[in-house]
Amino acid sequence: MNPDESATSRRQLLQMGAAIATTSVMAGAQSPGREAAAAGLAPLSLDPNRRTLLKGGTIISMDPSVGDFVQGDILIQGKKIASVGANVKLSGPAPRVIDASNTILIPGFIDCHRHSWEGVLRRIIPNGDIAKYMATTHQGFAPYYRPHDMYVGNLITALGCIDAGITCIIDNSHNSRSSAHSDAAVQALFDSGIRAVHASGAPQTGNWDHQWPQDLERIQKRFFSSDDQLVTLRMFSGLDRVNWALARKLGLRITTEFQGAPSAMQLEQFWNEKLLGPDVTYNHCGGLTDLAWQRIRESGGTVDVCPRSDPQYALGEGIPAFQKAIDHGMRPGLSVDNEVSYGTDTFTCTSCSTSSLRHKSQSERRRQSTQAGERARGPRMRHSERRGLRRPHRQVRDVDARQRGRHRHDPHRRHQSVSVQQRHRHGGCGRRYQEHRLGDHQRRDPQIGRKNDRRELAQASAADRRIT
Ligand SMILES: [Zn+2]
Repeated sequence: MNPDESATSRRQLLQMGAAIATTSVMAGAQSPGREAAAAGLAPLSLDPNRRTLLKGGTIISMDPSVGDFVQGDILIQGKKIASVGANVKLSGPAPRVIDASNTILIPGFIDCHRHSWEGVLRRIIPNGDIAKYMATTHQGFAPYYRPHDMYVGNLITALGCIDAGITCIIDNSHNSRSSAHSDAAVQALFDSGIRAVHASGAPQTGNWDHQWPQDLERIQKRFFSSDDQLVTLRMFSGLDRVNWALARKLGLRITTEFQGAPSAMQLEQFWNEKLLGPDVTYNHCGGLTDLAWQRIRESGGTVDVCPRSDPQYALGEGIPAFQKAIDHGMRPGLSVDNEVSYGTDTFTCTSCSTSSLRHKSQSERRRQSTQAGERARGPRMRHSERRGLRRPHRQVRDVDARQRGRHRHDPHRRHQSVSVQQRHRHGGCGRRYQEHRLGDHQRRDPQIGRKNDRRELAQASAADRRIT
């Protein structure tokens, strides 16, 4: 796609979104679909036969069976990719052609975990911790949200995602205060054109209709009669036997927020009751026990980690559980979680993942290098032992001074003259002095230091191979 064209169309979409918000606030209306139509953003109704050809772009398919192309075409029919190749042969009606030269065509990002209703609270707490997050979102704005606010929040999040190259999200919607709130949230996802999973969940605080979770059946009937549509449905719930039973009765997958030792203990109970399954996705996953990771993997569950929210809000260990998932044989998804403290850009998300992995591998490398070094040269001297080695140094200098007819006072040593004489008589201090001087010399020699560094790096490489 031509970048200029695409930028213009995205800008227009965002302007339309802003227009919807403005119009709706002024009118005070509560019907999101009518507001959208009035503002010019009618719900998308894709013609299943409409064809679009992206021509002459560099294609990185991320699919070995398709391959990559320095220059190639992508044919889209309706809402699906019909063909990818160096020069796609066309038959039938002529498609709309978009010049994609000088662009890279890659699959869109998938954000496995987003609380879309918070979209209007973007960057409201840039330096927030988890307490501030809760106070601002669930305890602050959420109880005052109208259905219209759910619509605007979801629409802004979805359009922002498309603008950032995210073409699919799981919308963890934990502010379903009434049926109208849920309907508005779902409608916004349909209207935006994004591919999304609406994971319907209960509000966390304040008064609400308590229509959830039973309302899921109504939502399913109203919006999700087919699985072959851009927006689909699942449940967003903690580890709750009743909720999970309902989700499974309705044939819905489940997403749960999940981290820390208490969650791990609860997971073990669910494991014993055979309640875990491949239909569960676990968000965050920081601070879990190895046994919990094992249970998730063996039950076929999926996980996603949050490269920005986990450190931002110090969740779990404060380090994204990316490496932990890989160590336990799982490939985690990446998720932005929310935008109240940082941006939506997924390239930054992947960059944060890389940084945290480097940090973790470097820490492990240093730890293993230190252990290997200690095994080779014995344990490090304690501080008191090092002090013990310095004293003979001073004593020898004092002995020399006395031999020259002068007497120095060492403030660190009481009964100095007796001690020095005794040590000198037995030759003890001289030997220790020599040992100390030799050690000191080796430590200061840059060549030897470099050799030691190289040896430590070689020792660390074994650990590195395991980690990265
Ligand atoms: Zn979350």
